[in-house]
Amino acid sequence: MMNIVIEEQAGFCFGVVSAIETCEKELSKENVLYCIGDIVHNSEEVERLKKLGLRIIEVSDLEQMHDCKVMIRAHGEPPATYLTAKKNNINIVDATCPIVLKLQKDVKKGYEEMKQCNGQIVIFGKKGHAEVVGLEGQTENTAIVVSKMDDLNKIDFSKPLHIFSQTTKSKEEFLEIVNTIREKKKALAKEDELFVTNSICKRVGSRSKTLLEFADTVDVVLFVSGKHSSNGIYLYQLCKAHKQDTFFISSKEDINLEELAKYKTIGISGATSTPMWLMEQIRDYVLEAFENR
Ligand code: SF4
Repeated sequence: MMNIVIEEQAGFCFGVVSAIETCEKELSKENVLYCIGDIVHNSEEVERLKKLGLRIIEVSDLEQMHDCKVMIRAHGEPPATYLTAKKNNINIVDATCPIVLKLQKDVKKGYEEMKQCNGQIVIFGKKGHAEVVGLEGQTENTAIVVSKMDDLNKIDFSKPLHIFSQTTKSKEEFLEIVNTIREKKKALAKEDELFVTNSICKRVGSRSKTLLEFADTVDVVLFVSGKHSSNGIYLYQLCKAHKQDTFFISSKEDINLEELAKYKTIGISGATSTPMWLMEQIRDYVLEAFENR
C-alpha cells in the first residue's frame, strides 16, 4: 500500500502569500492589474492569477504606460522603477516583501558608508534576478554581483568592501565566498575593512533543515518547483545531495509513474514559491494513478 505525505513546512513563504493576497484583493475591485514580472516563480500559480485579470509586463513597458495601476512583486524593484511610475502617473501597488525592503535600505546605507571610504558593495546573488536588480539600484548600479568563486576577480581587495546576499541564496555558498574574501583581505592585512551582512532570509535558511528532516522520513521526494525559482533549484539540489531518490517536477506531467512504483512512502515538498494546491493536486494525481493499477 502506497503512502503519500506532503511536507507541512512546504508552500509559500509569507512574502509571497502576502503578495498574492494583495493581488487577489486588487483584482476583486479591478478587472485588470499589471505586475512587473511573474508575481511568483511558479507558472501554475501565475496562470491561475492571470485568469482573474493579472497581466504580466516587463519593467521596460512602464515607459509607455500611463494612468494605471501596477503591482511590484515580493522581489522589489530599484528606485528607477518608482521614478518612471511617478513620471507617468502610474499608481504603484507595492507588494515588496518587508524583508527585501529592509535589505534594500541596508544596502543603501552600506553604499553611503562605502562611498565615504572609496569602498565597494558586493552582492552575492544571481545577476539579472529581480531582487538583485533592486539591490543594485540602491547603489546607483555600482554594486559588484558575484555568484561564484571566479567572480571574485571583479573585486579590488585593496579597498574596503561590504558584502550582502540575495535573500534566497544558499547559506553554505555565502559562507564559502565570505571566507575566501576574508583570506584575501587577511593576506593584505586589511581584514578590518571587510563588512559582512548575512541577509539570507531565515525562512529560506530554516527550510533546508526541515526539508532534509522530512526527506529522512520518506523513500522518495517529489520536489515541486518552477524551473526558474532560485530557491527551488537550491532546495532541490540540497535534497538530492542528501537523498539520491529525489526528483524535480514542475507539474504532474513530469512524474514518471513507472519509477515511482518501486517506492512505498512518497514525500512531496516544494520551494517557497510552490503553492500548496499544486502539491495537493500532485498527491491526488499519484494516488489516483496507483488506485487504478
Ligand atoms: S523568501 Fe523570505 S525574503 Fe523572499 S519573499 Fe519569502 S519571506 Fe520574503
